[in-house]
Amino acid sequence: MPEVYESIEETWNKCLVKIEKKIPPQTFSTWFKPIVPLRIHDSKLVIQVPSRFHYEWIEEHYKDLFNNVFLDVFGFVPSINYTIALIENSFPGVNNYQEKPTITNELSLPTNTRLNDRYTFDNFVEGNSNQFAKAASLAVAEAPGKTTFNPLLIYGGVGLGKTHLTQAIGNFAVENGKAHRILYISSEKFTLDFITSIQNNSTTKFSKLYRSVDLLLVDDIQFFTSKERTQEEFFHTFNELQQKGKQIVLSCDRPPSELKGLEERLISRFTSGLIVDVQVPDFETRMAILQKKAEQDNIQIDNDIIVFIATNITSNIRELEGALIKLLAHASLNGEDISLDLAKRVLRDFIKKKNTPLTIEMIQRIICDYFRIKEDLIRAKTRKKEIVLARQLSMFLSKELTNYALKTIGLHFGGRDHSTVIHACQNIEKKIKNDKQFSLEIEKVRRKIELSV
Ligand code: ADP
Ligand code: MG
Repeated sequence: MPEVYESIEETWNKCLVKIEKKIPPQTFSTWFKPIVPLRIHDSKLVIQVPSRFHYEWIEEHYKDLFNNVFLDVFGFVPSINYTIALIENSFPGVNNYQEKPTITNELSLPTNTRLNDRYTFDNFVEGNSNQFAKAASLAVAEAPGKTTFNPLLIYGGVGLGKTHLTQAIGNFAVENGKAHRILYISSEKFTLDFITSIQNNSTTKFSKLYRSVDLLLVDDIQFFTSKERTQEEFFHTFNELQQKGKQIVLSCDRPPSELKGLEERLISRFTSGLIVDVQVPDFETRMAILQKKAEQDNIQIDNDIIVFIATNITSNIRELEGALIKLLAHASLNGEDISLDLAKRVLRDFIKKKNTPLTIEMIQRIICDYFRIKEDLIRAKTRKKEIVLARQLSMFLSKELTNYALKTIGLHFGGRDHSTVIHACQNIEKKIKNDKQFSLEIEKVRRKIELSV
């Protein structure tokens, strides 16, 4: 049993020391270091993890490790309650997830700012795409309510750093004592809390809380659209805070002028301060972000691998991070080194090959993979039933999905001539017509092929 007066951090550190001995350093820094222990009581251990993915990964792969170590340290196996850093709660669809009994939302008002301290200006990588947004955010963080940037509205596509910047403002203000009462909330959570307060007859308490802060950070205001009563409530909150010279920071996934279903008076309030945007990062910024993440997590990763990821994953920063995490996860699970070859294999699905035209070889590969037959047999002379079927199907889908001439298709199947291809297509068409099961199967394969490009 741990000492009665031992803090949760001390106890947790004991667990970490034991865990660290049992797994590779990379696995440790990826999955265990980011965990924040919150408390232990009634044989329940409450820990905070950065994301839903993180939680699922631990549950799936490290449950036994946890149990062994806990038994060692606590003398019993506590049940684990996971809480997710609140940013995750701002996404729709997360409700299913919250229904899981092990998940609790531990963060309650008013003492908690709901900020996640991993979002700081220090670890925000600057580039052309976000320089201005960062400078404005920093200015606001240094003097909340005292600049003309009120409200500051940050907009941009998904995964480009809006939440990061919004929370960095809060974290900076906390750390440097720039504001007393700071609250971060997504507009979705604001809406849900407001509805709950209506149900509990506690709307006065709700209003008071939000109107008493010095710095209010509201993420993803697009969720306010079409929620009339919440908009009304937020309108009053907004006005009161602004009148008192308090700072408001908003984020949105599109320019406010494109917010349909939001009252005019709100849009005009939202756009009365400074509006900045975050854009898709360029290659250099993507490189810098990956390097920074690797450095932060203490991961040794060759430059050519970073170049590979930065070249192929271009849409947003969340995907960049996701790619890196996926790569690490594979490496640590299989005990492999992080190599370019591994990166190519692991990130295949991640990398959109939108510009690559579909080839006959690709179709052959997917079909052989699907039916678990060796690829060269499809081009050989074999007349084994299942191989003939796969061969004919490949010919049929090559004809359907590519622009190659029948002659060319035949050539790709061990130099068969175009009449063989015609025969194959007729045979498959007949089967599709007469065999429901078969036709469903073909649809599955076809979708697989279409998704591969
Ligand atoms: P958004 O809110 O715009 O959808 P997030 O702020 O959640 O995007 O960013 C997605 C992920 O990318 C987060 O983990 C965040 O820390 C990271 N990220 C975004 N921008 C940067 C940046 N400039 N430097 C470092 N990490 C970043
Ligand atoms: Mg966000």
